[in-house]
Amino acid sequence: MIVYLDGRYVDSTEAKVSVFDHGLLYGDGVFEGIRIYNGNVYRLDDHLERLEQSCKAIMLDVPLSRAAMAQAVCETCRQNKLTSGYIRLVITRGVGDLGLAPWLCEKPTLFIIASKVSLYPQEHYDNGLSIVTVPTRRIAPDALPPTIKSLNYLNNILAKIEARQAGALEAIMLNAQGYVAECTADNVFIIQKGEILTPAASAGALKGITRATIFDIARELGLQIREADLTRHDIWCADECFLTGTGAEVIPVVKLDSRVIGNGKPGPITARVLASFRQRVLTEGTRI
Ligand code: PMP
Repeated sequence: MIVYLDGRYVDSTEAKVSVFDHGLLYGDGVFEGIRIYNGNVYRLDDHLERLEQSCKAIMLDVPLSRAAMAQAVCETCRQNKLTSGYIRLVITRGVGDLGLAPWLCEKPTLFIIASKVSLYPQEHYDNGLSIVTVPTRRIAPDALPPTIKSLNYLNNILAKIEARQAGALEAIMLNAQGYVAECTADNVFIIQKGEILTPAASAGALKGITRATIFDIARELGLQIREADLTRHDIWCADECFLTGTGAEVIPVVKLDSRVIGNGKPGPITARVLASFRQRVLTEGTRI
């Protein structure tokens, strides 16, 4: 496997960063997870825009222009002959000393990995996921804005551990007020009386690229969609529920906290949204 690392394409065995890199020492950095389908990088510009905004928020200078970054992403795919898979783009604060001070880090570290994607097993797309609400709350937006896709994922990882301990593959994370924020690596949607609802970023949700796609799809299909404060109760009593993420795509949820959602099967609106999503990803995108 060939990895892009600070302007060079190197073998993965050579793709190494320093133990003094603040991405490693402090999780000081940002990243993007991007998909490529049939030689088209899905919504690359949107991912790069979110990356730039994450960088701006943490006052990290993006080492490459938007066009150069796009070119590096595409070239990494080409180098690996990857036409379908998952791309991880990471920018860290770079090498510094053992203190926190980001201004002592000389230059950011940038690397891009283009690899295979690991999806949930197909049976969960067919039959729906059974998930749980976990005790770990989503970190407050005024402590660490969820709109920053930072390398600090310990909050989500704690939730992921709790989900596994409860025998589930994903977890609903609530915010400090008890409203639904998101899952550990996915956004959450419900369908209630024909309307699609999802938590706002202010409730602790990442502004997912797949989430944005769902808004586009809903408008195209003539479905009502809006952001709303959601409780666990809203999900338990929803007609349908699904999760979205670059890795997971669109996956139905049929049970939360042992409560069956709707009739316990992936719902008809979820199916329409999923079909439209699958269609879109094959045609939309940046040709590598
Ligand atoms: N929330 C979190 C915490 C995430 O890490 C992700 C990315 N996997 C998402 C939501 C979904 O965002 P996207 O659709 O951009 O992948």
